[in-house]
Amino acid sequence: GAEERGARAGRRPRVTVDSSKAKTSLEALKISLRQLRWREFPFGRRLPCDIYWHGVSFHDNYIFSGQVNKFPGMTEMVRKITLSRAVRTMQDLFPIEYNFYPRSWILPEEFPLFVTEVRMMKESDPSWKPTFIVKPDGGCQGDGIYLIKDPSDIRLAGSLQSRPAVVQEYICKPLLVDKLKFDIRLYVLLKSLEPLEIYIAKDGLSRFCTEPYQEPTLKNLHQVFMHLTNYSLNIHSGNFIHSDSVNTGSKRTFSSILCRLSSRGADVKKVWSDIISLVIKTIIALTPELKVYYQSDIPAGKPGPTCFQILGFDILLMNNLKPMLLEVNANPSMRIEHEQELSPGVFENVPSPVDEEVKVAVIRDTLRLVDPQKKKRKDIQALLGKWQHPCRSSSGMKDKQHKHHSLKLSLKLKFYLKLGLSQTSEHVSETKEELLDGGSAEGLEYDTSKNAEAGLPSLCLKQVFPKYAKQFNYLRLVDRVAALFIRFLGVKGTTKLGPTGFRTFIRNCKLSNSNFSMASVDILYIDITRRWNSMGIDHKESGMCLQAFVEAFFCLAQKKYKSLPLHEQVASLIDFCEYQLAALDEKRLLCGR
Ligand code: ADP
Repeated sequence: GAEERGARAGRRPRVTVDSSKAKTSLEALKISLRQLRWREFPFGRRLPCDIYWHGVSFHDNYIFSGQVNKFPGMTEMVRKITLSRAVRTMQDLFPIEYNFYPRSWILPEEFPLFVTEVRMMKESDPSWKPTFIVKPDGGCQGDGIYLIKDPSDIRLAGSLQSRPAVVQEYICKPLLVDKLKFDIRLYVLLKSLEPLEIYIAKDGLSRFCTEPYQEPTLKNLHQVFMHLTNYSLNIHSGNFIHSDSVNTGSKRTFSSILCRLSSRGADVKKVWSDIISLVIKTIIALTPELKVYYQSDIPAGKPGPTCFQILGFDILLMNNLKPMLLEVNANPSMRIEHEQELSPGVFENVPSPVDEEVKVAVIRDTLRLVDPQKKKRKDIQALLGKWQHPCRSSSGMKDKQHKHHSLKLSLKLKFYLKLGLSQTSEHVSETKEELLDGGSAEGLEYDTSKNAEAGLPSLCLKQVFPKYAKQFNYLRLVDRVAALFIRFLGVKGTTKLGPTGFRTFIRNCKLSNSNFSMASVDILYIDITRRWNSMGIDHKESGMCLQAFVEAFFCLAQKKYKSLPLHEQVASLIDFCEYQLAALDEKRLLCGR
């Protein structure tokens, strides 16, 4: 239809977006698509779309191509318990680097540990008068949250099957603005998992409490408008002020706060760089398990979509300006209107300019970054660059070689065009013609980018990874452990390792010896696996989950490299295993020949 006519008329095909599952992000998405002049399919489409925009989660069995704005497993990964566990593993390895997350315990299973640890800390420092915050797992919007002064105040409700929760140290000295506590919602784009690519939105939202803050006492512990910054709670306070500009009211832009801070003489650059490192480190804690989910839902070598995802980071600034991570949201609200009570019981949705300003920019620029046509253009240009200047890379090439080289390039290019742009044949011939006419690479770029990007503001998303990869790559140890785990999973589609897989791992990496028999290997497997499975996270499959494997791996590392600090023990064992497996692969390759 329209698309074909457009293509015949010489226009490029527009990017297609399926918005039928966008839910509450629909309004902001629609505005973004209009600005980009992309094509929306509000009821879905029989043909494949370039992008599928989901409001809730990845799951959809009928997507075999294109891109989806959710990763499989992300919702599970950022639940309070899973996130706390993942961060704790990193804290075990790198306690100082990961001190941006409050000390946390998982309930009910770690209740005894919580009691003893708190007692010990109090004994060693009698002046320590802590407060704790209890948050039910899977809760949101402040639901079920309460503060306590003493471990014995936890409402385990007497029942054995009490609701799983996280209890953590309450941050008593938050930064205040206008005497009020506030937190920051920052938008982070995980553009790709492999290779890791992370972007951060330059502006976010600050959400304010509606009652002046006081440090927690037994008297004020229950005052949610003083202690909890959730918008959904504070909206019900008589003091809530809907913001019509971006630097007043109960919800403001984060940049307006930073302006205030900088006028008070704060080092705002340092605040930002601390936030960036918090975000990168948190994502590094999440990637190992995400990779396990990814290979299980989208096995390598089978047709499937690629994924990207906008995450909502909730961050609290302490009064010394140190950012602390509160939680990560897999489905940050993208609503750009709020409910207003016109008269008792009569509600109306009215536009919220603060939300619109920040959220539309985040969605639009996410789309610009994942733009499938931009990627194609880039790839073509890389090839065109070589086609036009074939000697660039090998300047001393002789004439005959040169011809041969050009021929190879042109074949490669033709092949690429067939593959990459097969969706619209017109587009292919058009690009071919440009090529044969000697159209320059620069010309092509201008022609294709002119209509898409013209008139749009500069990107609000800033790349932080791989940009700062050098500073953070040493933290990615569990990623490498996960790669070993995935290698031995064997059958695609699973997330748990069976006993045979574990034995193969030990054998292939030559980890068993006279001190550590295969019988002890089996015992290690059974012990750790049984404990993890009894914690009742995921009963669907039997076997060893990634975290259990990580625990076993840490045990093995401690056994093998006794006196080193844990992260060095683990790094040494990873090096050792990777070396053994590379040697094995090489041997197999030689035998195969
Ligand atoms: P929810 O998913 O229910 O919003 P959060 O973990 O975001 O749960 O906690 C809700 C609110 O409680 C946060 O917005 C913050 O204001 C406050 N809060 C949470 N954890 C802490 C903490 N450790 N110290 C101080 N305040 C906290």
